[in-house]
Amino acid sequence: MEHTVLETLVSCPLCSGSPLSPALSVLDHTVSKEVFHLVDCPSCGARTTNPRPDQHSISAYYNSPDYISHTNTAQSLQDRLYQLARKNALRTKHKLIHRIRPNGRLLDIGCGTGEFLGYMKSRGYLTQGIEVDLRARKQAIANHNLDVVPNLDALPAQEQFQVVTMWHVLEHVPDPKRTLKKIYSLLADRGLLVIAVPDRDSWDAEHYGPDWAAYDVPRHLNHFRRADVHKLLHEHGFSMIRTAPMWLDAPYIAMLSQRYRGNGTLTALIVGTLLGLWSNALALLGGRPTSSTLYIAQKQEP
Ligand SMILES: [Zn+2]
Repeated sequence: MEHTVLETLVSCPLCSGSPLSPALSVLDHTVSKEVFHLVDCPSCGARTTNPRPDQHSISAYYNSPDYISHTNTAQSLQDRLYQLARKNALRTKHKLIHRIRPNGRLLDIGCGTGEFLGYMKSRGYLTQGIEVDLRARKQAIANHNLDVVPNLDALPAQEQFQVVTMWHVLEHVPDPKRTLKKIYSLLADRGLLVIAVPDRDSWDAEHYGPDWAAYDVPRHLNHFRRADVHKLLHEHGFSMIRTAPMWLDAPYIAMLSQRYRGNGTLTALIVGTLLGLWSNALALLGGRPTSSTLYIAQKQEP
């Protein structure tokens, strides 16, 4: 990509450990076709994309019609299936949160085009969104009549929320520690934090290696395992309520990964679905994490 400025981390963004050691080289299949490198921390084992586009350069790497979380058009068969799955996922997400916090102010960080937030609003939550992408933000406002600001710093001062959600967002964040500190200050006492991120300890991650679609470089900067997220939450004043498997991610990620390995749409759909189901079966029966993991944590008193 022209004009990209890369920044290089010299130590681990989670624990400051160094030197970071090379782990994998991964191709950006969706936008730039460039190769990025993943490094592991010698102390805590956290995996990070490094070097990575700096904060001014990164937006160009989101600039693709293929980047589905920011678009709302159903074109290919895969996309249509994804949209169908997403509808089902909305109901599941609502149920999960409603059981613990049946009402209150909800902040969705990285709300995209606002489907989740719009659904929660229709179920009685008072909603606020954050979305950095201008096009997605405009759609969220126009389609769901939502209040959406571009970043955490643009929220009105003294805002307090009962629930903060981050659906597949923390892996995109350049400084997860800073983000969690900010979220802690935004949450009311015993407020709920819900995080979903890909899990590189899943079977599909191991099977696909550098072709695993959930590495999604350079948009994904952090490549978490459960232990990384638990540690991060604990260090920032949160106690875990529960983790939950995410069954819909594996078939989708496996389908994409098959595409990256050169399969046509139909083959990728069939093989990806089967291998995704296999990953889920191993999660169900063998105790492995699913392709993505959901974390529900609660803010502790200081
Ligand atoms: Zn570390």
